[in-house]
Amino acid sequence: MTRKVLLAEPRGFCAGVEMAIKALTWMVQTFEAPVYCYHEIVHNQAVVRAFEKAGVVFVDEIDQVPLDAPIMLSAHGSAPEVVAKASNRAAVLVDAVCPLVTKVHHEVRRMADQGFDIIYVGHEGHDEAIGTIAEAPAAITLVNPEHGLGDYAPHNSEQVALVSQTTLGLFEFQGVLEDAAERFPSLWTARKSDLCYATTNRQEAVRVLAERADLVLVVGSDNSSNTQALVRVAAVNGGRAYRVDGPDAIDPGWLTNAEVVGVTAGASAPDQLVFAVIDAVAPTEGVERVQVTTEGEYFPLPRDLRKLLAALQAAVEGGYSARNPGQPGELENDREWTANEALELLALSPQQPPE
Ligand code: SF4
Repeated sequence: MTRKVLLAEPRGFCAGVEMAIKALTWMVQTFEAPVYCYHEIVHNQAVVRAFEKAGVVFVDEIDQVPLDAPIMLSAHGSAPEVVAKASNRAAVLVDAVCPLVTKVHHEVRRMADQGFDIIYVGHEGHDEAIGTIAEAPAAITLVNPEHGLGDYAPHNSEQVALVSQTTLGLFEFQGVLEDAAERFPSLWTARKSDLCYATTNRQEAVRVLAERADLVLVVGSDNSSNTQALVRVAAVNGGRAYRVDGPDAIDPGWLTNAEVVGVTAGASAPDQLVFAVIDAVAPTEGVERVQVTTEGEYFPLPRDLRKLLAALQAAVEGGYSARNPGQPGELENDREWTANEALELLALSPQQPPE
């Protein structure tokens, strides 16, 4: 029987995921269904299913979208040719790429233009990796962080850059970075690591949890890179750790002799599911929040969406005086509502864990 749950702070939705979920919610509220989304908006089955119920169709090829339909591109970032194709096909195109992924795309383009060979530390086949590598495929070599550099050999060891997927396990990435820096003393890397703030904060929190808990449950989906990294970080720090999509995925046998259970969530997992998992664990002495840092990051809605909504808002105001002219409306108040509230609007209930 579990006595106590340690709940990680921070956990769950990051600023990029908040922005992407709210942006797609605006799209389904603005346009008649279906709204098309290239790739899963974020890698979480419950979120994807909630949007499907609300009329979103997720596609893996832009050709699958009918001409002149509204299209959103996912938070993971898309290849330049996908953006170009979608822009030709869509009546309205909104790119919900996280600004921190866009930063890595810029780095890749800049270093490739300067003639550098680029080591990209990431996972083959992940949407973010595919989109980033497509910026300069001839210059990039993909290195899996768990396998390391191996016999990597650049054309010119004086001109090597190293960039990475934003959601890797810090300890795995660090190993590749140190090896590369030793082999190529003039190695170029971003001044601030490509691993995003949300990744590093959630990993630090789960590390603290793993040291105190008998078992760590990480809420998130199988294809979520940062969720998988949290499981590995918990495991190397001494914790027995499992990923769960929701409460139904908990094996009761895991809780035997687990007096203290740590609970956290990947950056794309809704808090509704976190609380449903805690309910299922049913700690007899309640929940202790373990705060390692606070986060205040906020990413505004994509510019194209803001422009579209502002135009619609102006049109509605002109016709019906929906708000007092000059006063802030819902668009200006975007900071005041959360992605979890957006999902509640779409009727994502904790009682609806993924099948
Ligand atoms: S995990 Fe990091 S890079 Fe990915 S969406 Fe969130 S903030 Fe952006």
